[in-house]
Amino acid sequence: MDAQSFQHLLARLDRLTVKQKSIVQHALQISVPRDDLVEAIPDLKSCPHCAADATQLASWGRSGGLQRYRCKACRRTCNALTCTPLARL
Ligand SMILES: [Zn+2]
Repeated sequence: MDAQSFQHLLARLDRLTVKQKSIVQHALQISVPRDDLVEAIPDLKSCPHCAADATQLASWGRSGGLQRYRCKACRRTCNALTCTPLARL
């Protein structure tokens, strides 16, 4: 879809009924299987900040659907995407 058509579609979204919005929302969730993407991310083998071994990484909750870790060596937190082009997306 070109940008102009997309903007036209966006401008018309407010005309949808609640049920139609629900159907669109459901369709978008199906087309982006986020859980499958998260499971495809490999585990950390070392701290992305100081390169300490993975045994130095302690679980530190979850954020954005990803497991967060805290490095016992440098005390910084990270996840599997830290220091990659996908970080903060
Ligand atoms: Zn570290």
